[in-house]
Amino acid sequence: MFSNDLHRDIEAVLLTEEQIQRRIAELGAQISADYAGKELHLIGVLRGAVMFLADLMRHLTIPCSCDFIAIASYGMDTKSSGVVRILKDLDDSIQGKHVLIVEDIVDTGLTLNYILNLIRSRNPASVRVCALLDKPERRIVPVEIHYLGFTIPNRFVVGYGLDYAQKYRNLPYIGILRPEIYGGV
Ligand code: IMP
Repeated sequence: MFSNDLHRDIEAVLLTEEQIQRRIAELGAQISADYAGKELHLIGVLRGAVMFLADLMRHLTIPCSCDFIAIASYGMDTKSSGVVRILKDLDDSIQGKHVLIVEDIVDTGLTLNYILNLIRSRNPASVRVCALLDKPERRIVPVEIHYLGFTIPNRFVVGYGLDYAQKYRNLPYIGILRPEIYGGV
């Protein structure tokens, strides 16, 4: 089990492991049905989407491949800087492929907007977005999320891949981080 320290930093569990896994199974079934007869190329946004992509992929019944992209986002802070740059580009060409971008959370939308523009400029056959979490209250740039796990309130959450200062990714649930940990309210 986890050391008590990690759990003590969590104010409340927002989504249990069971809720997350049940919803991912539903998303996998829906995506498999929508892309029946096609091949799907998943693009995971490092590092937060790793667990989500791994679990989602196991629920896809269509042929699929995956690649990863890393974008600079918050660093040690919990507020978006608006500065977005590529830390790791895709390994494979996406020309002519049906691309599904897999994101952990859409907050301001700046990251996803940047990735969408980049992907679209490389001539894929199609592009859609699958995000586990959406915090619509904080949106700055409008972005369409085709497949969404959960809409959540405007709180800073960690666990199931999501971090604060690179910690908490290994929690199996998604929890609200105690504001005193990051100096928020
Ligand atoms: P956006 O560009 O503001 O939409 O931010 C997207 C990225 O910010 C996500 O991929 C996360 O890495 C990070 N992020 C936003 N909200 C949270 C949160 O509540 N917990 C952990 N990371 C977050």
